Amino acid sequence: MAKQPMLKFVQIERDMPEKRTAEARKEDFDEIYAEFAQAKAEEQASRCSQCGVPYCQSHCPLHNNIPDWLRLTATGRLEEAYATSQATNTFPEICGRICPQDRLCEGNCVIEQSGHGTVTIGAVEKYITDTAWENGWVKPCAPLHERSESVGIIGAGPGGLAAADMLRRAGVQVTIYDRYDRAGGLLTYGIPGFKLEKDVVMRRNKLLEDSGVTFVMNCNVGEDISFADLRAKHDAVIIATGVYKSRDLAMPGSGAAGIVKAIDFLTVSNKRSFGDTVAEFDSGELNAEGKKVVVIGGGDTAMDCVRTSIREGATSVKCLYRRDRANMPGSQREVQNAEEEGVVFEWLSAPKGFADTDGKVTGVMVQKMRLGAPDATGRQAPEVIEGADYVEEADLVIKALGFEPEDLPTLWGQPELPVTRWGTVKAEFKSGATDLPGVYAVGDIVRGASLVVWAIKDGRDCAEAILERFNAKAAVAAE
Ligand SMILES: Cc1cc2nc3c(=O)[nH]c(=O)nc-3n(C[C@H](O)[C@H](O)[C@H](O)COP(=O)(O)OP(=O)(O)OC[C@H]3O[C@@H](n4cnc5c(N)ncnc54)[C@H](O)[C@@H]3O)c2cc1C
Ligand code: SF4
Repeated sequence: MAKQPMLKFVQIERDMPEKRTAEARKEDFDEIYAEFAQAKAEEQASRCSQCGVPYCQSHCPLHNNIPDWLRLTATGRLEEAYATSQATNTFPEICGRICPQDRLCEGNCVIEQSGHGTVTIGAVEKYITDTAWENGWVKPCAPLHERSESVGIIGAGPGGLAAADMLRRAGVQVTIYDRYDRAGGLLTYGIPGFKLEKDVVMRRNKLLEDSGVTFVMNCNVGEDISFADLRAKHDAVIIATGVYKSRDLAMPGSGAAGIVKAIDFLTVSNKRSFGDTVAEFDSGELNAEGKKVVVIGGGDTAMDCVRTSIREGATSVKCLYRRDRANMPGSQREVQNAEEEGVVFEWLSAPKGFADTDGKVTGVMVQKMRLGAPDATGRQAPEVIEGADYVEEADLVIKALGFEPEDLPTLWGQPELPVTRWGTVKAEFKSGATDLPGVYAVGDIVRGASLVVWAIKDGRDCAEAILERFNAKAAVAAE
């Protein structure tokens, strides 16, 4: 009888790929985890219990066929593992790196629930597709037939790119318009290299280009080309613009120099990772070197800002969050990484105003908080502790309070574009269809600030809906 290759979770402990020391990783913007060696990936994959009802799969937004690609990896059938993995995910090696697995697939792994430690699904997913790239298995698509229909996509983030990939595979003519100079959206200019190295994103952009997708970069829709022109030019238009309006703080002193937005700070740092010269960095405006940095916020953007500041050579980095550690929205894994790198978290601390000298920020006035009774949603609201205020010294304050959608109907002169009361585009569940004929929307601009994996899911679902529409139209024309 063949040897049972799986269910090794009792004999084999959970193990992640090697993590670089905090001292080493503070010196650069490279990723902090090494790659699994083949034997280690096989060993870790073999821990999977091959559940009949795999909760990891149902809690993965893409419903990746995780047990199958783990089994294929454990038995050394890597090319098939890659084929299975990429069948449901446009960017498996990106999700393997940056999905919050503890809240998605791994958090629902049955052996984790039984106390054995989750299968390292993300790390194996990354290993499979990185290996596929190394071995030349990842190839540009070559559609069997070219179709006459064209789709214009506004935004080259993961949502737009995932839709482009699916449509192009079916032979559709795809053009992506983006206001940045490089494609990738927040994968390129939001998420720092220590979580996702830039060449991992750039090789995906090139693959799409090699597959025949046209990129029109430095093109701000609404300014360089009108939305109406795009609708006239293409058979369908997908809005995949993400959310970029930073939430702000209106409080005494908030106009002082040295108080900056997280997205500006991270974009500049990411541009430098490409070797670009950036004036705002060279002038010191968006550069943490030699400064006491205070980051306000407790989400993943705040975590990226504190860790970027450390790498830029800040003298101290503090993170203020108004709730406690257990109630922060950011990933616990990232908090741990930040702490290892020297970031100090000031929990239950909220800004009240800013101190400055000659218009230049010198400190944050902080009020201490406690958690009060739970509100209607069950979440404890923070309350001020009177008399406990203090000033936290700072030469650079980074506001990482979240993002909201830009006002697209106004910016694009399209009052009829349907939006919700939060400003997100109103689109049908799954297809992404809006009330405007031929106009679809996907990713953060529909969901509000969310996750890469959800943007990929939306892009894929929307492409499928558009293809169905094109096919139905073609069938009618053929009759
Ligand atoms: C700092 C940061 C860290 C994050 N970390 C993670 C993480 O670790 N894991 C995770 O899963 N998610 C993370 N996220 C969230 C994730 O990046 C987003 O959910 C995801 O990128 C959304 O994809 P999208 O395609 O909808 O939009 P985006 O990635 O935002 O792409 C939108 C694109 O549209 C372009 N655009 C916008 N308006 C126009 C216009 N008028 N004309 C032309 N182009 C336009 C933009 O230039 C951009 O390239 C993070 C977000 C931030 C800000
Ligand atoms: S895409 Fe994300 S949630 Fe799904 S299996 Fe991969 S890491 Fe887990």
